[in-house]
Amino acid sequence: IRRLFVGGNWKCNNTLAQTKDLVNSVLNKLHFDPSKVDVVVAPVFLHVPWVAEHIQKPVQVSVQNTSLTGTGAYTGEISVAHVKDLGLNWAILGHSERRQYYGETNEVVANKVKYAVENGLDVIACVGEHLADREANQTNQVVEGQLEAIRGKLNEAQWEKIVIAYEPVWAIGTGKVATPAQAQEVHEFIRSYLTQKVSQNVSQKTRILYGGSVTEKNAGELIHQKDIDGFLVGGASLKPAFADIVAACN
Ligand code: 13P
Repeated sequence: IRRLFVGGNWKCNNTLAQTKDLVNSVLNKLHFDPSKVDVVVAPVFLHVPWVAEHIQKPVQVSVQNTSLTGTGAYTGEISVAHVKDLGLNWAILGHSERRQYYGETNEVVANKVKYAVENGLDVIACVGEHLADREANQTNQVVEGQLEAIRGKLNEAQWEKIVIAYEPVWAIGTGKVATPAQAQEVHEFIRSYLTQKVSQNVSQKTRILYGGSVTEKNAGELIHQKDIDGFLVGGASLKPAFADIVAACN
């Protein structure tokens, strides 16, 4: 019932030449069935127009952040309207790097999600615990707090526009992937949260992605977990390995 989803979060990587090469040599050679899997890549903002113009459908393009405000006197920001103006529909919001380095609290993230959804974007909303939270057995509480902030801003119909990415911070860029059982446990918790706090329908329809050191080597086993509906890939999305991760979901 849930189409799988593979996202490539390119973060703050690549020169324009490297981005062009990645699009031409990897993305534009992907073979996948868009009725089975969505493939969405998120380049550096300055590369987005080039990628949007040159990437072959059905690969879709996302941004990695949007502002809390509309167009106007907001120096340095990029508004949802600018994203829509390029014909794009996706934003990654609340990534742990934005929470950690740019002061985005649960409240800020929830407001960004609300603003983006109300203005027509689909959102990959990121949640996940730090190592210290996991060691203190606080994983579910931390994830629930992040979800609760978002839930407070959305009505039930708006959940159609949300994909959740569970990305344990200790697994991001560390090579320490969550085991399939560890990931499944949190994904199942998130799905039961949705059942209890939103609705059975939303719980069954919402894609829950895993992110954190996903590679072509571990994707196959992770994707077979019941509540894992795809991935948000960082490092491996900059390499030909991304094609193998897409293949594992196709
Ligand atoms: P890595 O795949 O590099 O661990 O990054 C995951 C991530 O943060 C995707 O958003």
